[in-house]
Amino acid sequence: MQKVPTFSKGGVHPRDQKVFSCSKPIERLPLPTELLVSLSQHLGAPAKALKAKGDTVRRGEKIGEASGFISANVHSPVSGTIKDIRKVTLANSIKCDAFVIVPDPEQESEPTETFDWKSQDKSDLLRQVKDLGIVGLGGATFPSHVKFSIPAGKSVDAFVVNGVECEPYLTADYRIMLEKGDEVLIGAMIGSKIIGAKRTIIGIEMNKVDCIEHLSSLAKEKGYPIEIIGLKVKYPQGDEKQLLKATIHKEIPSGKLPLDIGAVVANVGTCHALYEAIVLHKSLYERVISITGECIKEPKNVLAPIGTKFSDLLAFCGGFSAEPGKLVSGGPMMGFSLFDVDTPMVKGSSGLLALPAQKKVKNSPCINCGRCVAACPIGLMPSHLYRYITNGEYEEAMQHSLMDCKECGCCSYVCPAHLPLVHGMKTGKKLGRKK
Ligand code: SF4
Ligand code: SF4
Repeated sequence: MQKVPTFSKGGVHPRDQKVFSCSKPIERLPLPTELLVSLSQHLGAPAKALKAKGDTVRRGEKIGEASGFISANVHSPVSGTIKDIRKVTLANSIKCDAFVIVPDPEQESEPTETFDWKSQDKSDLLRQVKDLGIVGLGGATFPSHVKFSIPAGKSVDAFVVNGVECEPYLTADYRIMLEKGDEVLIGAMIGSKIIGAKRTIIGIEMNKVDCIEHLSSLAKEKGYPIEIIGLKVKYPQGDEKQLLKATIHKEIPSGKLPLDIGAVVANVGTCHALYEAIVLHKSLYERVISITGECIKEPKNVLAPIGTKFSDLLAFCGGFSAEPGKLVSGGPMMGFSLFDVDTPMVKGSSGLLALPAQKKVKNSPCINCGRCVAACPIGLMPSHLYRYITNGEYEEAMQHSLMDCKECGCCSYVCPAHLPLVHGMKTGKKLGRKK
């Protein structure tokens, strides 16, 4: 029997918990009464505001201009009026300016005219990706036009599309692959054309066999030269490093990028956004987000305008079925605890989880069991790094490759002493950089 591929080093198997929302088709959120559209919803410099208080805006209109090499344009998700520009705190604790937009009661209909992507050249496609504010929707929000600008002298063997969605609970990508499969495949072809990739691959874990079958038959029927690869279920396979090891069997060396091994990676949601940008000329102003967890009354996958407050998403899902112990923006392994339900969603918001309270456990001293070392997908020594960091020995931690840590949380997940290892790594990186 053929072995199902996966990455080799470390990894863990948390319960996938996708049962709450995986069968729920994507539903469009009714228009909220107010949106908070942040100027900083991508990796890099915040966008520069192009509108002022009192201005009217149209849906899809550019309202924030990319302000640096790594930055992205921001567009209005609705037609309406800018009531204010004020500071907000995002789920990842970043403070930034945001437009407060009050939507008009009537919105124009969605674009339906389609444009032929095959006849457009690479530079035209890339310009539109930049203009329309496309960023990576898997969570990293790296501006796609920067990722897809391949420097002279470099070439791309493989464009690897990430359909793994390995974080427990999240099902937005799963529903996108099932419901918008053809659009995802066209987006993958567009991405591949821009970067000049020799191969296009979509990696999907075997807990989504229906997606593997659906995309494989669609690709065959439409004649798209795309390989769909089923991967063994293992966290954190959605990380670029692990995904490339599992799909093209190549390792990214420490401090290098996928392009250094001839690969570019993008998420399935990003491919769908590429389709909408190029074929519909639609800017990135809405996305699918999973509202799920044990404490949500009606878990759903929701298509919502960027800037929607999490409180509006919760209300759309019937509120809480039980008092949650914790609210999380993103997945439970790498997401952020949410302290204010009026925080707005951004381009990178993949999920909102309401999780039950957990029994408080005290941490105890390290017993040198080595489980964290076995679980680390990068091959680090989390227990040693944690010791250096708690002793304030940041330089030693740096010398032992602290900066290679992906903050995946595998070490904390397996630690029988319940040590806050990943929290330690994050703190160590921050303080180590300042030294
Ligand atoms: S959080 Fe960092 S140290 Fe811990 S397992 Fe992940 S990569 Fe390794
Ligand atoms: S898993 Fe926890 S107890 Fe075991 S070696 Fe690592 S830090 Fe120590």
